[in-house]
Amino acid sequence: MADTYKICLLPGDGIGPEIIAEAVKVLDALADRYGTTFDYERALIGGCAIDECGSPLPDETLAAAKASDAVLLASVGGPKWDTTDPDAPRPEQGLLGIRKELGLYANLRPVVIFDALKDASTLKAEAVDGVDIMIVRELTGGLYFGKRERREGVDGAGVDGAAGVQAYDTLIYNEYEIVRILRQAFEAARKRSGKVHSIDKANVLETSRVWRELAHRVAADYPDVELVDMLVDNAAMQLVREPSQFDVLVTENMFGDILSDEAAQITGSLGMLASASLGDGTALYEPSHGSAPDIAGRGIANPLAQILSVELMLRYSFDMQDAADDVNRAITAVLDEGWRTGDIAADDTDPKRIVGTEKMGDLVVAHL
Ligand code: NAD
Repeated sequence: MADTYKICLLPGDGIGPEIIAEAVKVLDALADRYGTTFDYERALIGGCAIDECGSPLPDETLAAAKASDAVLLASVGGPKWDTTDPDAPRPEQGLLGIRKELGLYANLRPVVIFDALKDASTLKAEAVDGVDIMIVRELTGGLYFGKRERREGVDGAGVDGAAGVQAYDTLIYNEYEIVRILRQAFEAARKRSGKVHSIDKANVLETSRVWRELAHRVAADYPDVELVDMLVDNAAMQLVREPSQFDVLVTENMFGDILSDEAAQITGSLGMLASASLGDGTALYEPSHGSAPDIAGRGIANPLAQILSVELMLRYSFDMQDAADDVNRAITAVLDEGWRTGDIAADDTDPKRIVGTEKMGDLVVAHL
């Protein structure tokens, strides 16, 4: 009997609905080719969910996600919902909430440069040659989930000794949270070039000192993998100095958030990077970029990061390695033929090869 997979689609806000439509086209093409059935269930998340239901993560959305074999998310947020009011619902709460509820503690972000796009990097082409990094970011602990508070009118907290605002966030990690993400990184390294950079701030933070000790303890179980400790400030510098020295890079939540955006930027094409968030149950796949409100609704967004999220979904959730390879090959072929969306076009791109969202999706499907 043919395989059937239930996919929960979360288009979200901004360019989300436009790019997810192209990913669905690709899935439908693969379904025909591989005799697989993909059943889709669409649900609301982020700003559109706040507008419709008053919550960035409605109960029905969470139920649909939990009942699926995998979740394909586009992006959430936009100026309409920007607020500094700590009590107002915010679109990103939908993202943090779904990660927490699905127990998605590991965020895997491949940072790869397609040959055809080497010149898109702001770094010299020789510096980015061969860059193939897997960033493994802890996703459900640390500063983003610790207790936080804002107090008004605290004596001495204001300017010139007056009463003012005082705020704090808590960076807290449990041993099990650190060990399981480190294991994900060592397992990934085993299938790659056998090297893990563990990034911390052990010269200052207690959580980092524990992290470093545990990294060495876990490393003892992987004698075939080399472990390198690196301070986060040095890692930020090394990523732009010599990115090809990294293979697997593992780090805690906030450092990972910042370093993965930095690493994304060295490719010069944020519209090309996807991520997988894994836990013990349903996994979630999404592009690394946001909802790009500045270009939403214009049909010019690059759908390739969303389509590359499909590639990751096929690999990690459905174990459809051949189909995943097909997607990657199709994208590579489209780029090699010179087709570009505006964000990845260069000065010397043939203007006739600069295409919109839908056409880019059609080209990928044609190559499948
Ligand atoms: P962004 O990634 O949305 O956009 C940054 C720049 O890259 C913009 O100029 C945008 O037009 C461009 N861009 C991004 N994706 C593109 C694509 N696929 N094709 C072509 N161009 C693309 O980041 P931002 O502007 O800082 O944030 C916009 C909104 O997205 C904010 O509300 C933010 O909170 C949200 N956001 C959401 C996520 C997420 O859903 N995971 C991640 C980051 C930001």
